[in-house]
Amino acid sequence: MSSRRNFIEKLSITAVGLPLLHSPAQLFASSTEPYDGPILKVAIMGLGSYGTRVAKAMEDCKRAKLVGVISGTPSKIKKWQSKYNLPDKNCYNYENFDAIKDNPDIDAVYVITPNGLHKDQSIRVAEAGKHVICEKPMGVNAEEGQAMVDACNAANVKLLIGYRMHFEPKTVAVIQMRKDGAFGETKFFQGQSGFTIGDPTQWRLNKELSGGGAMMDIGIYSINGARYMLGEEPAWVTAQETKTNPEKFKEGIDETIQFQMGFPSGAVANCLSTYNMNNLDRFFMTGSKGFVEMQPSTGYGPIEGKTHKGKLTQPHVTHQTLQMDGMAALIFEGVQPIVPVDGEEGVKDMKIIDAIFLAAKTRDKVML
Ligand code: NAD
Repeated sequence: MSSRRNFIEKLSITAVGLPLLHSPAQLFASSTEPYDGPILKVAIMGLGSYGTRVAKAMEDCKRAKLVGVISGTPSKIKKWQSKYNLPDKNCYNYENFDAIKDNPDIDAVYVITPNGLHKDQSIRVAEAGKHVICEKPMGVNAEEGQAMVDACNAANVKLLIGYRMHFEPKTVAVIQMRKDGAFGETKFFQGQSGFTIGDPTQWRLNKELSGGGAMMDIGIYSINGARYMLGEEPAWVTAQETKTNPEKFKEGIDETIQFQMGFPSGAVANCLSTYNMNNLDRFFMTGSKGFVEMQPSTGYGPIEGKTHKGKLTQPHVTHQTLQMDGMAALIFEGVQPIVPVDGEEGVKDMKIIDAIFLAAKTRDKVML
């Protein structure tokens, strides 16, 4: 039995009592019925490690299907063609993919390339009249993010950012609890996001391709998490950077940054982003009536956690399967996830990253 079906069957038991409106639960509750609606036909751009993971997860999707690829490596295209039965006419390279505009068999392109390429590639996809799904971080700064939003608006296509946690059942349940007041007044969030990065020659450590170091790649989870857990936008940030290996983490590539955010309600967040420590995938939030602790909090899962009411028991489903079915429902039916995954949501994170970099450099409190 597929993990999705398992999820659907367990859902009726475990999710009783949870308001399901606008959540993946709602989406999947309704999908116990046979689905005969439109299928989102997706081409993946960038056939690297995450693109491979997304393609595999899409095998279990009901509303989305991989139908094409865009890659600079002909041998990879061949391999993917035979694995996913992709016709030649749906396979492109980085030079010719603008021709996708004449291909009615592709609805959306999922950009899963290095961060520094996202903006130009996403804008080209939009100009070809296709919906854009783009990995996080959406670009390398807020200006790029806004240019992507503007281009997608001008082309009248959707821009969605790969925020898979916005569809993850335990995360959704916690956000819903917060909305329902279960934690009372939320006062403090702690986010720890990091891992020890290997190969010093990889694009993640090349400023032009990555736009930054740990913050762009993994620290963004604590930023986005603080926002969806607390349900507020920060008013200010402060930040402190530590660099123990300037050879590996060159100018513009942050190794470790601790940062703090202050919110209009008076809530505060204290977070750590690093490429130089392991076992850091943890969220904690406390409020006037209760708390939640999640560890792992944003890895591929299963996510684990507990609140003052007990263990989080929502079933694990492959995040990217839920995400792609959820994004298809958003595009075709306007079903909104509990927290947006649109370009504006991406720009909010990019503005905070810009502010954190500035705060780390100037050692000043930066107002947002
Ligand atoms: P990767 O290195 O495994 O794959 C990148 C792909 O881009 C490769 O296939 C590579 O050939 C291709 N590429 C195209 N032009 C390139 C160039 N000029 N230089 C280098 N590579 C080029 O990286 P990845 O881990 O798949 O990450 C890709 C994107 O996905 C990043 O934006 C990353 O932040 C994001 N990502 C998101 C998640 C998530 O959980 N949402 C997880 C991992 C990665």
